Amino acid sequence: MLQPSTSVQYIKGIGPKLAEVLAAKGIQTLDDLLHYLPFRYEDRLNPKSIAELRAGEMATVIAEVRTSGLFRTRRMPIFQMTAGQGRTRLKCIWFNATYLKDKFKPGQIVALYGKVEDDYRGGELQLTQPQFEIIGEADGASDSAEQKLAASLEIGRIVPIYESAGQGRLASRWFRRVIHTALENLPPELPDPIPPVVRRHMSLISPHEALQKVHWPDPGESTEDLLSSRTPAHIRMIFEELFFVELGLELKRREQKAQTGIAFRLDDRARSAIKKILPFHPTGAQKRVLKEIASDMEKPFPMRRLLQGDVGSGKTIVAFEAAIIAMENGYQVGLMAPTEILAQQHYFSARRILESAGYRVVLLTGSMEDDRKRQTRRHIARGDAQLVIGTHALIEQKVEFAKLGMVIVDEQHRFGVLQRFKLMKKSNEDHAGTGLRSVASEQAPAAPEPDVLVMTATPIPRTLALTLYGDLDVSVIDEMPPGRTSIVTRCVSDERSPEVWDFVRKQAAAGHQTYVVYPVIEENEESELKAAMKMYKELSSRIFPELRVGLLHGRMEPSLKEQVMRLFQKGELHILVATTVIEVGVDVANATMMVIEHAERFGLAQLHQLRGRIGRGAAKSYCVLMTGGKVSEEGERRLDAMVRTNDGFQIAELDLELRGPGEFFGTRQAGMPSFQVANLIRDRQLLEAAKREAQAVLAGPNAEITQAEIDAALRHMRTRWHKSYGLVEVG
Ligand code: ADP
Ligand code: MG
Repeated sequence: MLQPSTSVQYIKGIGPKLAEVLAAKGIQTLDDLLHYLPFRYEDRLNPKSIAELRAGEMATVIAEVRTSGLFRTRRMPIFQMTAGQGRTRLKCIWFNATYLKDKFKPGQIVALYGKVEDDYRGGELQLTQPQFEIIGEADGASDSAEQKLAASLEIGRIVPIYESAGQGRLASRWFRRVIHTALENLPPELPDPIPPVVRRHMSLISPHEALQKVHWPDPGESTEDLLSSRTPAHIRMIFEELFFVELGLELKRREQKAQTGIAFRLDDRARSAIKKILPFHPTGAQKRVLKEIASDMEKPFPMRRLLQGDVGSGKTIVAFEAAIIAMENGYQVGLMAPTEILAQQHYFSARRILESAGYRVVLLTGSMEDDRKRQTRRHIARGDAQLVIGTHALIEQKVEFAKLGMVIVDEQHRFGVLQRFKLMKKSNEDHAGTGLRSVASEQAPAAPEPDVLVMTATPIPRTLALTLYGDLDVSVIDEMPPGRTSIVTRCVSDERSPEVWDFVRKQAAAGHQTYVVYPVIEENEESELKAAMKMYKELSSRIFPELRVGLLHGRMEPSLKEQVMRLFQKGELHILVATTVIEVGVDVANATMMVIEHAERFGLAQLHQLRGRIGRGAAKSYCVLMTGGKVSEEGERRLDAMVRTNDGFQIAELDLELRGPGEFFGTRQAGMPSFQVANLIRDRQLLEAAKREAQAVLAGPNAEITQAEIDAALRHMRTRWHKSYGLVEVG
């Protein structure tokens, strides 16, 4: 008998060598192997004889390879293979399939699945572009018991098709055999980690049955359900995975809430202080999210809230309003920005809006002179500074606060749940998991946790926020400030740049400013930076000699950066040539035009972030996506989406579709739990159900669930989290 935790190398047919190949696919234990699901299924229950085939039907045919070869027509190469059963023959063709050249050998047995059609002369039937699998080799003609088993796994059933591993060394057929063996050696009863009440709510089948049927479906199973992963077996496995992720997130959320927080008072004084600073009427959405934030702040446990809103939706002022509540209660606030430029930008706005109302605001960044840094730190430790704005580097510098009440984190990119957990663990002895700590907390260990407000610049498809930010409450600003005209976006080849530069000149003549963005993705890439500098020289001396052009990139001296930014902000530069350092948060309302060079090289989310820098004032804004060179099909879809819509949520959805969740979140480093069997796009509804059930479980014990059942589920959850995410500890 094998146990799910058994290493795969002890399974018959797998040794240490193949175990290594499997490890590269993330398969280490029997359990991992059994979670390696078929990516499709083929109905080979009733393979047809060639003689029975009718044009127009989909059919499975098992036959022997006779001849094969590649021939070229005027339009494209065509690969043709003829398979036979006794004296009948069937032609199969694949277009543009040079890769099939050496695939088949006469005498091999192949399973073919595809559409039966009349051939172009109308005389014979053929299979056009069939899917195929070689299921028997030409020389393996003995009929040992093993081969009989193999054959019985290939024909007369719904057959699972697996992705091959080890550059094709481990083919689908190989997986079929070892997984079959593994299933036969599994104990007949596996413990079910999902609590009985949840199993009942979701009508889940047992783990053993699910494993069996997900690999070897019953003959009556619906093909459609199989292909869309909606059979009871699939649902059981996917739900289980999602349930334990959500259980971990929910537990974390509850733990945070159980800590002692600060119950801020939102009295008339605070209310009128907020009203006083507002430079404009807040939008309905801004009012609503402030209410959500304020009501968290009034509660006696720590706030953990995510504020989500498209670029330009006006998150900053909401953050300032929340900060005022904390400051009016006598607490300090830390505001962390992802870059120095953005920290500076926040500092300028804070000075304009808050300092003039009497609040003491300081800026603390890594590039400040040591003396000034020390002095600023002293102000913070003494409690003189009320609002401290800095980069995330604040974390490393261990800033000590006299009375820290609130931390606002303005995120550059999606900062995933796992990262946040790590940060919290790292700075456990510090405060709030933000790395910021207050002096008070050291003297009195029971000091309350500050509130945390995380602001994200990128919209995240709503259901995915459940996973990525599952430990936070979410507020969404879904309305733009009034008076914005939409941005007109066009995509042109850089051959037409003279027209584009003419347009920039017109904007300048009308008193407006332009960003020209150059793709320097890696700021430390010398060559890319050079290209950007060259572009700058070209624009400033040759193309726009009459205009004032500035340059901004990540490797410039911070003081110089600041100077350039300030000039642009004051309108003293007509054009700012910049790398993606301006992606986040830069706010100059008079900039009405953006030209993005080599737009095809940027990701969709990044393009949208960049474009968000314009369209911030009342004047009509223009975004020109300039392409240089060949654009891939996916690139076309990205650019097309940008031209079509300004809606960040729509763009995020499409981005997710184009790239898949892993890439969308920038791999696991982004702190996104990775999944074995679940797919966040396909399984949204199950994800929501998993969340609901996890919440219900943690609300127990009650008539539905006992403490022992809850404990068992939590134990299982911890083991899984530990296995999948290592460092992360929940519960
Ligand atoms: P983001 O959500 O991208 O951080 P900001 O907070 O920078 O957006 O706001 C974008 C611009 O819109 C700023 O210039 C800000 O002053 C302005 N703004 C924000 N809210 C309003 C409002 N309710 N009415 C008018 N302008 C607003
Ligand atoms: Mg912002």
